Amino acid sequence: MVAVVGLFAPVDAQTSKTRAHVQALASDRLEGRLAGSNGERLAGDYIVSQLQQIGAKPLPGQRDFRLPFEFTAGTKDGGSRISVQLKPDTTDARTSPPSVASGFSRTFESDVRALSFSDNGDVDGTVVFAGYGIVVPDSQDFGYDSYATLDVKDKIVVVLRYFPEDADQKTRSMLARYADLRYKAMAARQRGAKAMLVVTGPRSPNAGELVPMTFDTALAGSGLVAVSISGNVGGAIFRGADKTLEEAQRALDSANPHVAGFAIAGVNVHVHAAVEREKKTGHNIVAYLPATEPIGTTPKPWVAVGAHYDHLGHGEAGNTLAGKDDAGKIHYGADDNASGSAAVLAVASTLAGQPRKRNVLVALWSGEELGLIGSNAFADKKPVPLDQLAAYLNFDMVGRMQDNKLSVQATGTSPAWGRILEQANIAAGFDLQLQADPYQPTDVATFNGASVPSLSFFTGTHADYHKPSDTADKIDYEDLDRVVDFAAAIVRRIEDTADAPQFTKVDQQMQSGGGRAGVRIFTGTIPDYATDAKGLLLSGVIGGGPAEQAGLQKGDVIVEIAGQTIANIYDYTYALEVLKIGQPAKVIYMRDGKRRETTLTPAARK
Ligand SMILES: [Zn+2]
Ligand SMILES: [Zn+2]
Repeated sequence: MVAVVGLFAPVDAQTSKTRAHVQALASDRLEGRLAGSNGERLAGDYIVSQLQQIGAKPLPGQRDFRLPFEFTAGTKDGGSRISVQLKPDTTDARTSPPSVASGFSRTFESDVRALSFSDNGDVDGTVVFAGYGIVVPDSQDFGYDSYATLDVKDKIVVVLRYFPEDADQKTRSMLARYADLRYKAMAARQRGAKAMLVVTGPRSPNAGELVPMTFDTALAGSGLVAVSISGNVGGAIFRGADKTLEEAQRALDSANPHVAGFAIAGVNVHVHAAVEREKKTGHNIVAYLPATEPIGTTPKPWVAVGAHYDHLGHGEAGNTLAGKDDAGKIHYGADDNASGSAAVLAVASTLAGQPRKRNVLVALWSGEELGLIGSNAFADKKPVPLDQLAAYLNFDMVGRMQDNKLSVQATGTSPAWGRILEQANIAAGFDLQLQADPYQPTDVATFNGASVPSLSFFTGTHADYHKPSDTADKIDYEDLDRVVDFAAAIVRRIEDTADAPQFTKVDQQMQSGGGRAGVRIFTGTIPDYATDAKGLLLSGVIGGGPAEQAGLQKGDVIVEIAGQTIANIYDYTYALEVLKIGQPAKVIYMRDGKRRETTLTPAARK
């Protein structure tokens, strides 16, 4: 070991609290730590050995640090098919060529695909066309219900994918929020339908194409048989109607709420839906440091620190941002989230050497990258009752600090946070970026959902996010160690204070079940979620995407799209809904303090 003196002396593995952990977790051997993989198991071995070294114990009532949970690792179609039978008494005089006799019956296999959330099973019945299948809740005071005049009880409904194509922007943005296929399935099921068939209308993008199977981690179906059908099958079904599918869609596309669907009396449909779900087992690793003093009557005698240790493996789960050249390589996930895991281990190690008035729960979650599965499984099983937690501190991507900026998210979950953070920061000296919103795409959302006062630390996104290039050599260990000290001081403060922080519920800024889900637009922007800047700060653009083609780049701040002011990420999500694929939109953005303008042409996301 060589002593290096000077301002920029590298932090040595011996003196850094976090470097060895990050290097171990982001090594080749662990292969990107995909939940349920061998790499996840090896990462778990490392974490367990570290927890044992500091004297942490399995949770009360548990023999092991590993808490397994089952999840769906992937879905594929298992041979769905559909037959369409024109009833013998139907005179199919409208469009069919003379060669097609009445009593036509056809079975399709390649023209049908189960939706990833479909139930498995067989359904037989008559068909009702329910337009776009969109129901805007009464609370929105908007008045759009595709089912208003229809009786679909025990019927098979056919709905169009997406939302009315020719509506004005305001209407589109409202309808888009309820156009997600899961939401449409829920609406159909609630009205008693037996099955939902989705067809991409002839007037829509991707006309006639099947809906790709999306990655879905749900363990079971959504309680409805739901498949997508091709334009061919749609055409066959509409032989039993007195309009073509295109005519029916055209009538709906102005979004006039009085245009209704109709029963397709002339056909019977049999649908067989089969989704194959591959089950795997992931492991949360959870330990605790028992209080060193009798807990007695201390309210909420636990405080928790946590981070997800899983990452994307080789990118096989579909949420990779790797370019073509990097596809299939190990996604090391040094910042996401070996950095947070290292921080949790280091905070625990610090606290292990100090007196404690509360138990400290130490959690390393898996399955976060697949949709917060691990922390949700913990919240469901409650090996420690969650109302016994005084607070939860989360770490996700804390290794790439820039300009001394530390984002602290979810501060709206307790009125106590402002003062606690201010006091802890006297010693730490960060430029704190406080964000009240707890509805973050990380495990803090789980604990907010369980009414636990929470914080989440984050040093911001970067161009290596979710790419194989997120490697251990790019981590800023000195500042990561400072985050550890800061967080340990906050935990001590909570341990020491007799009263637990009070929980405050923060209103969600975006309707669940809408928004993002209805978005089928691809702009190729990578928003910086960590900023409080007015507008949408780009932390990058996707190579070859529409944003790059429009000349946008990292550091640009978008302030207006297609005439809509963009003040934050929610405005941006909203604005995406009203853009049209292939239709150029004016974008106003700030670069180097100057206002500039460009034109961005959105592409279709498949
Ligand atoms: Zn993460
Ligand atoms: Zn991630």
